[in-house]
Amino acid sequence: MAPIVRAVDLRKNFGDFAALQGITLDIAAGEVLCVIGPSGSGKSTFLRCINQLETVTGGALWVDGELVGYRRAGHKLHALSENEIARQRLKTGMVFQRFNLFPHLTVLENVTEGPLRVQRRPRDEVVTEARALLERVGLAHKSDSFPIDLSGGQQQRVAIARALAMRPKLMLFDEPTSALDPELVGEVLSVMRDLATSGMTMVVVTHELGFARDVATRVMFMDKGQIVETGVPAQVLSDPQHPRTREFISAVR
Ligand code: ADP
Ligand code: MG
Repeated sequence: MAPIVRAVDLRKNFGDFAALQGITLDIAAGEVLCVIGPSGSGKSTFLRCINQLETVTGGALWVDGELVGYRRAGHKLHALSENEIARQRLKTGMVFQRFNLFPHLTVLENVTEGPLRVQRRPRDEVVTEARALLERVGLAHKSDSFPIDLSGGQQQRVAIARALAMRPKLMLFDEPTSALDPELVGEVLSVMRDLATSGMTMVVVTHELGFARDVATRVMFMDKGQIVETGVPAQVLSDPQHPRTREFISAVR
């Protein structure tokens, strides 16, 4: 089966600064890839390239079999239009450190907004599915609340439900628990764990090494825009081969 994500010598420059310096990696369907690494190592940039919040400046990236940002016409590549990019972007759901819910919409409306307005799917179907998703993240009873009345952990669970409502092929998480009070981290990780068990393909940037150890199919350690080391959690987290990985893991622990 074709990988959900294929990066070949993926590069991203910001001016002269090389934030990603040649990332080559396949992510298979159903994989849960946890990305770890020091601040500034390019973790967010990697996710943002997959989700087309950044344009790639070198190498190539495929998501769900489609070349990101380009269309092939004979031997030529044409840059995609904004509309086509928006369509490609719908393949991925993204959850950020900050919850970014719409403050003026209820919890249920936050979840139905995208499927109704962007995907223009039938309201009955969308609402039924949204209620099921809220049930799944343990927030059915909060459907009519507004984000301001929820804890950070609850808001982040709504953000996950909202992303899932778009029926993405792939879910990206960028430090989803880093902004939460410690006692609220567990409930969000638990929802992510269930999602992983259900077979969703996930890329998770996290400092929660316990989660990575239990849930990841693979862990990738990045530093300075490069993949330093990748492997199963038992290897990368417990028996890292590279001194930089070792140093990072003992510092986070
Ligand atoms: P991480 O998520 O691992 O902390 P990032 O991917 O956010 O790292 O950033 C990687 C590097 O790219 C950092 O040095 C950061 O300052 C730089 N960077 C990220 N976004 C931009 C931008 N829009 N303009 C200039 N530099 C950026
Ligand atoms: Mg980051």
